[in-house]
Amino acid sequence: MPRIDLHLHTTYSDGSHSPDEVIQFAHEAGVTALAITDHDTVEGLPEAMAAGERLGIEIISGTELSSRYEGRETHILGYFFDWQDATFEARLTELRESREQRNPRVVEKLNQLGLDISYEEVKAKAGAGSIGRPHIAAVLVDKGYVTSTKDAFDRYLADGAPAYVERESPDTREAITWIREAGGVPVLAHPHWTKRKGPELVEMCSTLKEAGLMGIEVFYSTHTKRQTSEYLELARKLNLLMTGGSDFHGTAKPGIYVGRGKGDLKVTDKLLESLRTASRV
Ligand SMILES: [Zn+2]
Ligand SMILES: [Zn+2]
Repeated sequence: MPRIDLHLHTTYSDGSHSPDEVIQFAHEAGVTALAITDHDTVEGLPEAMAAGERLGIEIISGTELSSRYEGRETHILGYFFDWQDATFEARLTELRESREQRNPRVVEKLNQLGLDISYEEVKAKAGAGSIGRPHIAAVLVDKGYVTSTKDAFDRYLADGAPAYVERESPDTREAITWIREAGGVPVLAHPHWTKRKGPELVEMCSTLKEAGLMGIEVFYSTHTKRQTSEYLELARKLNLLMTGGSDFHGTAKPGIYVGRGKGDLKVTDKLLESLRTASRV
């Protein structure tokens, strides 16, 4: 059964490989269709499409929007939307600007905490792509302040940690509407991230479904068997589409591979047709 991967990051957000390289990895892993889901952007899509055409891999339009639901950062994946839609593109630009405005303030907070790090160093880490917290984390690792990206987030950068700066982000319901208006299929990414489970998660998903949510990311690199079956059941119960992907970031998230996650991820291409049918593009 052919495999697909609907959650991948490249240098156009916080991944360490170009779309071209990611699609090469996908080809090697036997992936037949994929979506590049860079944060708040579709800029990597033309490069991905060119590589996909060369290697015979179907490239689906994708993105991952950062939003807030009841005060907590919540990620919504979008698929099969019109990626050249001008209104959608303008909304993405706004999101990226608010993301970039936050970073210098995070660096300032780190300086106040006594850490010697400059915004120039962070920019150098990001290269041509948009700057994000993983780049700040990478500088902290280089300088020996933390042992890993995870350590940087736990100790300084995560929501609630001392150098956290809240950014302006849309309400999750709004992010869902944006994807729907561009003809796409909005999907709740990595549901465990919401820190909700059981009835609380069901309630959140029903509320979001009323707002237009169409799917839930059931298959994911770090989901436990128990999580996967909970989300599978949830999808059936609420009649939501199921998606899956590795959330590959390259060296920014070591040990996760395109199309294979930690090694045992397999997302079947059977999921693709219902997504395609649900979209209006
Ligand atoms: Zn995410
Ligand atoms: Zn992601």
